[in-house]
Amino acid sequence: MIRAIRVFVVETLQTRCVVVGGGPAGIMAGYLFARAGVPVVVLEKHADFFRDFRGDTIHPSTLQLMYELGLLDEFLKQPHQELRELRAIVNGQSVPVADFTKLPTRCKFIAFMPQWDFLNFLSSHAKRLPAFQLQMETEVIDLLIEGSRVVGVRAKTPNGDLEIRGDLVIGADGRHSTVHTRAGFQLREFGVPIDVLWMRISRKQSDPKQTFGFFQQGKLFVLLDRDDYWQAGFVIPKGRFDEIKARGLSQFQNDIVSFAGFLRDRVSELDDWSKIKLLTVQINRLRNWCREGLLCIGDSAHAMSPAGGVGINLAIQDAVATANLLADKLRNGPVSVDDLSKVQMRREWPTRLIQGMQVFIHRRVVTGATSGSKSSLPFVVRLLKWFPVLRQIPARLIGIGPRPEHFHSASAG
Ligand SMILES: Cc1cc2nc3c(=O)[nH]c(=O)nc-3n(C[C@H](O)[C@H](O)[C@H](O)COP(=O)(O)OP(=O)(O)OC[C@H]3O[C@@H](n4cnc5c(N)ncnc54)[C@H](O)[C@@H]3O)c2cc1C
Repeated sequence: MIRAIRVFVVETLQTRCVVVGGGPAGIMAGYLFARAGVPVVVLEKHADFFRDFRGDTIHPSTLQLMYELGLLDEFLKQPHQELRELRAIVNGQSVPVADFTKLPTRCKFIAFMPQWDFLNFLSSHAKRLPAFQLQMETEVIDLLIEGSRVVGVRAKTPNGDLEIRGDLVIGADGRHSTVHTRAGFQLREFGVPIDVLWMRISRKQSDPKQTFGFFQQGKLFVLLDRDDYWQAGFVIPKGRFDEIKARGLSQFQNDIVSFAGFLRDRVSELDDWSKIKLLTVQINRLRNWCREGLLCIGDSAHAMSPAGGVGINLAIQDAVATANLLADKLRNGPVSVDDLSKVQMRREWPTRLIQGMQVFIHRRVVTGATSGSKSSLPFVVRLLKWFPVLRQIPARLIGIGPRPEHFHSASAG
């Protein structure tokens, strides 16, 4: 009897820092480490950045970083929209929510830009740096652990398995993180009572401008302007998608029209439930963001809900703090757990604060309204309308966030 013996040869790469995930946190961390002269490999499981579910907001604090990095002028040449004031449509009335014009930042606006354009822009600059490598279609499936230390990752590629070893692995692989699961990190979940139905509806040049969202008696509808179409997000109570389906597509189309009447002539584009994706929303946080050889940042360390549109900003701020705190040491070799935990110590309280705010928004603003209250404007919204100065508070929270990070040129070697 002849037995076939298959020998698997696993290719191995060696670098200083392995970043898992090419989202805002991963690409920014990779760029900053490479800029500081730390050899870095970023691994992204998809073949491109064209993911629909990503948010589109580039915050004033991120634009400030682009300025500090010398990339702002070129960045602003990419197609985008600038929103100096964010308005929401609450029970049919347009109300101002946030005024960015008084922020102490170079750009006093939120730039709306499809996230793939942002990631393509940043990664194209990163690729000019000799220390930077981006491997697309490379999905991390496991961690390599020796003793108690994480020494690299194992990944699947179209050409077979790959091992990438490094002094530090950074988990930036988002809210369904393989890295934090494989590391055995404990996760604390904060119940989120909503999910989002995500879909595209074509856009006309005559349509109203980008807003913060349409709030109406317990329901929220968000439209992101992507030039020739709207990326629409319909917020529903968690677990109710089947009920909505049972009511039928035409009822769902009517619901959309009740928020945004200008879509009446186009909602029929949603002629099949396959065009409507269910996105489950989570808010959670790791107890420990690190162990020997491994650090999680961004949604991998703390999944954010879309509320307030702040998750991208927080992910980028984590990346900047990571590079500021670790680049110098990592250039010369491994970093200790104490060094890694400094990142958690620095970023945990801003995260707690923002997540607390998101939980509050879900309980009081989104689901609070599900009670069916028909009051014309909630009290907080009325305050924002009456006292313009108060609009600087949401502007600061959304546009900059607590503890904004700045690029330390010293860590650039
Ligand atoms: C419906 C929805 C809308 C949102 N809208 C906004 C918004 O408008 N503004 C805002 O600020 N925030 C928004 N958020 C939150 C925001 O998307 C996240 O907080 C932010 O994307 C986190 O960035 P990140 O880089 O940590 O993770 P992600 O953006 O999730 O990036 C993770 C990357 O890792 C890759 N990856 C995953 N697993 C692996 C693996 N095993 N191997 C290799 N690669 C892997 C993924 O493909 C992805 O590219 C929204 C969230 C949701 C759910």
